[in-house]
Amino acid sequence: MKRTAEVVIVGGGCMGASVAYHLTRRGVTDIVLVEREKMLATGSTGRNAGGVRHQFSNAANIRLSIESIAFLEHFADEVGHPIDFHQDGYLFLLSSPSSVETFRKNVALQRSLGVDVEWIDGAVAARLAPGLNAGGVAAATFCQRDGIADPNGVTMGFAKAAQAAGVSVERDTEVTAIRVESSRVAAVETTRGTIETRIVVNAAGPYARQIGRMAGPRGIVVPVDPYRRHIFIAAAPNQPPAWPASRIMVIDFETTFYFHREGAGLLFGMGDPSETPTFDTTVQWDFLPQVIDVAVKRLPALADASISHAWAGLYEVTPDANPLIGPAHEVGGFFLINGFSGHGFQHSPAAGRILADVIVGRDPQFDLAPFSLERFASGVASGERDMV
Ligand SMILES: Cc1cc2nc3c(=O)[nH]c(=O)nc-3n(C[C@H](O)[C@H](O)[C@H](O)COP(=O)(O)OP(=O)(O)OC[C@H]3O[C@@H](n4cnc5c(N)ncnc54)[C@H](O)[C@@H]3O)c2cc1C
Repeated sequence: MKRTAEVVIVGGGCMGASVAYHLTRRGVTDIVLVEREKMLATGSTGRNAGGVRHQFSNAANIRLSIESIAFLEHFADEVGHPIDFHQDGYLFLLSSPSSVETFRKNVALQRSLGVDVEWIDGAVAARLAPGLNAGGVAAATFCQRDGIADPNGVTMGFAKAAQAAGVSVERDTEVTAIRVESSRVAAVETTRGTIETRIVVNAAGPYARQIGRMAGPRGIVVPVDPYRRHIFIAAAPNQPPAWPASRIMVIDFETTFYFHREGAGLLFGMGDPSETPTFDTTVQWDFLPQVIDVAVKRLPALADASISHAWAGLYEVTPDANPLIGPAHEVGGFFLINGFSGHGFQHSPAAGRILADVIVGRDPQFDLAPFSLERFASGVASGERDMV
């Protein structure tokens, strides 16, 4: 393993890989990316639903989406790796006057930034997503350029292109300490030796708080907490299934139940409001009946479906559900790309580009105030309301 590097990136998920890739495009190739697992993309990145959308409530997140989706549309040409991107749209179902009101503001904001979002009624929603029961739906929003892509493909694409440019990827290697001298990063200790460096990127996903604690004698408080989220897969039935043939993503906003076709089967999930922070990713099978109770009201075919498998992963959640992108000013050379609160995969292209610009001292052309660590010092202001 290399003993010195210009930059050490901690974490080989979509964020770490994206930062590595974008740094190489800015001429920085003396990089070590350190991942404690045997493979890249086995953390949150490898357990997510693949959803990619413009439809956020917060201008900064919408801007991340606009840049990221444009990048994903040309990913194969630009990065040289397939990502199975299907832009069959995201459909949000709204059943209460307060949700409709919230989305009126969101859609106005999205359109003001140039996003093409439509208002539709329940009947049109049911035509877009055959099998859907749109009973009680007061209104719905649809954006055709939203969709789903392969998180593993995006991460491996970034990582392989970065490696081809000279980045060293160290798997099966855990970061155990960060040495800070005169308030500046000096080295990273790992289970396979020390790497002297002046720049560390914390891309440890749900473990961002732990990496922050390692930075110097007092450490840096990185306010990211892990929340378990489940995904269930319904097997393809023998009959043609009574669910959409397209890859449209449908989200019942009031309940957070969502689904999209996955191969010949169906991927679905729902938030559990009673979940408290945990690193446990054991599947709670007793949560499935609660999901099914809600799910069959929107997608009756699930009543007869057999569930072939399930997994759980961790959301990395900040107090305002907005990410942290930029320097941690207390310790020179320590940078954050954390806390994407359940929507990080889709924002990894833009987030990695922005952090790479910040690291090399270029103007990122992006107002990073909503994503700064300092924003929490003055209390939590407005963040992202549409965390699903
Ligand atoms: C069920 C579920 C569904 C989701 N659905 C979506 C979706 O539809 N769309 C979307 O955009 N996002 C979604 N997300 C969120 C998305 O997966 C995350 O925001 C994103 O993957 C975060 O990427 P990351 O690289 O920061 O973290 P990770 O992928 O977790 O990568 C961090 C890496 O750091 C490594 N690491 C940690 N500590 C150390 C250490 N000490 N030394 C070395 N390595 C270390 C870990 O092993 C891990 O590989 C979902 C998440 C879950 C759990």
